[in-house]
Amino acid sequence: MLDIEKIYKDAGALLEGHFLLSSGKHSPNYLQSAKVLEDPKIAEQLASELAKQIKASGIEVNTVCSPAIGGLLAGYELARALGVRFIFTERKDGKMTLRRGFAVEPGEKILVCEDIITTGGSAMEAAEEIRKHGGEIVAFAALANRGVCARSGSEQMSKEECKLPKNKPFFALADFNFPIYEPENCPLCKAGSTPIKPGSRGN
Ligand code: ZN
Repeated sequence: MLDIEKIYKDAGALLEGHFLLSSGKHSPNYLQSAKVLEDPKIAEQLASELAKQIKASGIEVNTVCSPAIGGLLAGYELARALGVRFIFTERKDGKMTLRRGFAVEPGEKILVCEDIITTGGSAMEAAEEIRKHGGEIVAFAALANRGVCARSGSEQMSKEECKLPKNKPFFALADFNFPIYEPENCPLCKAGSTPIKPGSRGN
């Protein structure tokens, strides 16, 4: 079994500070998956471990779809490990959209893959877009889970903010239970600091 926390730490991908997550919540920790995935060998290892879980579940997957940009590398590697095709959705005028000539067959079984799942908001937007094109969402997957949603095989309960459907499996390699705060209740904000959105300041 891979030690996911160690892999993130060793890659300098487990950041400490005051961060604005894409879910709009604040946290003293941030997982910068791009730093882990810059090593293709590690990306391959993580994806094949995730693929093992998915194959063991017996779920049939025709295609992996990721919301860009965050999910691209993880989803592409997962598709390779599963031996299926890979497509992605991207934001156009703020709306998650299937573009670039990607087509979905009626009833095509699609797994939505992210690098990290917090509430699953972006994953659900991608899933909605796939459904509109006639695809069937069979599961969700992420390299790491922020602990809001319950992943398959874990004892943890899904929290109310989790947007993923309870009747679809969610596969992830590890739970990272960092503190997550609503902006209005964030002790770091109360202490006078301003959250940063990693990657948005030229780093
Ligand atoms: Zn804050």
